[in-house]
Amino acid sequence: MKWTGPESQWTGGLAHWVVGDRAFISCAFTFKLPEARKWAIYYRSIGKTVAIGGPAMAHVKTQKYMEDVAIVPRGAGNPGRHDGALQRHNPAATIASRGCSEKCSFCIVPFMEGAFSELPNFPVLPVLCDNNLSGLPDDYQDHIIGRYKAEGVPLLDANSGFEPRTFSAKVFERWRVINKGVWRLAYDDLVERDFIREAMAILRGAGIAPRKVQIYTLLGNEPYEACMQRVREVIEWGGEPFCQPLMKLVSLTRDPHVKHDWTAKKLRAVARWANNRMWRSVAPRFEDYDPSVRRAPRARYDATQGLFI
Ligand code: SF4
Repeated sequence: MKWTGPESQWTGGLAHWVVGDRAFISCAFTFKLPEARKWAIYYRSIGKTVAIGGPAMAHVKTQKYMEDVAIVPRGAGNPGRHDGALQRHNPAATIASRGCSEKCSFCIVPFMEGAFSELPNFPVLPVLCDNNLSGLPDDYQDHIIGRYKAEGVPLLDANSGFEPRTFSAKVFERWRVINKGVWRLAYDDLVERDFIREAMAILRGAGIAPRKVQIYTLLGNEPYEACMQRVREVIEWGGEPFCQPLMKLVSLTRDPHVKHDWTAKKLRAVARWANNRMWRSVAPRFEDYDPSVRRAPRARYDATQGLFI
């Protein structure tokens, strides 16, 4: 199966487009809202009516921030959702379900989308952005896979990935038939330790290379030592950590939310050390890493994955 459609390319969390006398803005991250606001003001200045939606608009605080320059969605869930908005962020992206069966406190998904809702007629495209594929009912997972097989589209990136509590050998066997990309899971707190260890053992036992076992590892939601234990374990168990500092759900800047014994500087340094794989060569232990020596950009955006690394 070869994909001949549009390439995977993320815009970085903000998309905007014009249809007739209307301008539409879709904002994924709250820290992109200041930029969204500038676009709204610009579109108004050229006579367009501006409407804004997207995950960043789920909270009443962000709605208030935009309401004087754009038509703002109101109500529960994601009332401003616009068909095709996701493909404005990435023309190769799609989604087959909204919501999640879990309720992680640091995550916007339960707040914004609630429990699972299925979108069985989703457009079949190679980047699949469902929040929690392994938590979906078995028959719906089979439905998604069946549609990829029927349409001959390769799954190149299960972008939000799988939830360790529901990942199993059965889930792996089901998805390996179509998943050509990395296996993404999250290890967000030590409560998930046994689940993620088991999930990684399944992947590594099946011969999946470390580079294709990518584990989102949240930083700053637990004290330093607990977070670093998770980072170290991901490496020890044969995967690669992708570290994301904790942020407030309504933050208008990309600054970390500092809690416990962390500092903002340390959160950024650990993320840079881990995400640039410096543990492989420069400093196997973070404690031996000197962040003042610039070896990698402070933070850059990988548009193929849609991640800040
Ligand atoms: S499992 Fe993932 S998508 Fe679901 S609530 Fe937790 S962090 Fe969010």
